[in-house]
Amino acid sequence: MTWCKSCFKPGNSDYCSSCRKELFDGGRVSCYLPFPPPARDEKDFLLRSILRPSLPRLILKYDLQQENNELGLSEDDHSTHILKPIPAGNYERLHMAPANEHLSMQLAKQAFKIQVVPNALIYFENASGEPAYISRRIYTGPVDDVKKRFDAAYKQVASYEDVALLMQQYIAAYKAQAERLFELVVFNYLCSNWGPAEQNISISQTEYGDYLLSPAYDIICPALHTGPGHEILENTLYFGDTESEGYRRYGYHTGIEFLNFAARIGLITSRAQKIIDNLTKNEITVTYIVKHSFLDAESKHVYTELYKEKRRRLLII
Ligand SMILES: [Zn+2]
Repeated sequence: MTWCKSCFKPGNSDYCSSCRKELFDGGRVSCYLPFPPPARDEKDFLLRSILRPSLPRLILKYDLQQENNELGLSEDDHSTHILKPIPAGNYERLHMAPANEHLSMQLAKQAFKIQVVPNALIYFENASGEPAYISRRIYTGPVDDVKKRFDAAYKQVASYEDVALLMQQYIAAYKAQAERLFELVVFNYLCSNWGPAEQNISISQTEYGDYLLSPAYDIICPALHTGPGHEILENTLYFGDTESEGYRRYGYHTGIEFLNFAARIGLITSRAQKIIDNLTKNEITVTYIVKHSFLDAESKHVYTELYKEKRRRLLII
């Protein structure tokens, strides 16, 4: 049986027709890239390892340009797609990193209907046929000044509460977007994608000229590679979150801190609780998606255990 390399639908050796539409505007792009993995710049890699040792920062990104049914490497910042090959470093199971990110993004989309950028696995056409993660670029044109200012200010934020404060300055319809932020923060926690350094939130301009949160991107479970307990904990949700009742009692973030965070960013508690409820049910769908993912059996087990543990913590209120 062959599976769509994006949505896991059976009976597709490359991508199913609906994923082809989303990913490649319907182009018949093969799941094999017509070139080998790009050579790594050793100096750049060493610098990244020393200065930015967190896993998401070790993952190198390459620009790809789609021309009809072919993808090629591009030097252009406004390319059509982003490619992330297997990263190098001293962490465990790094050959599973592309499948990890792909699974985390598909979980968000398929189990919880979170809006994400179109994404898939793709393979290098060399002897090893190693996988890479591919996603569609949200912005293919020049980035406008408002978004540039938001992205620059985002680099300075310390907590997700700071992100919400920033959103209030840039997004007119803040309330609905605050719910989306909350949902994304809870989901990042479920995936152990945790710490203020995980810069995977941005804004996009709509056709009416206003701004909304961008579709989710860069969601991965770093703990699959770094082991649990490497998350940066203090002040991730809001300043002083580790001083709260739940954290002091259990030594980790629980549903209590998430509800505190929701109240601080202006969400009604019942709405926030409903979002947590939605993200902690659907266990059968989550298990099904993990089972069909491109992780190996051992990684599927570790991923599931990490996920279950975060889910258990969220249920403490
Ligand atoms: Zn598909």
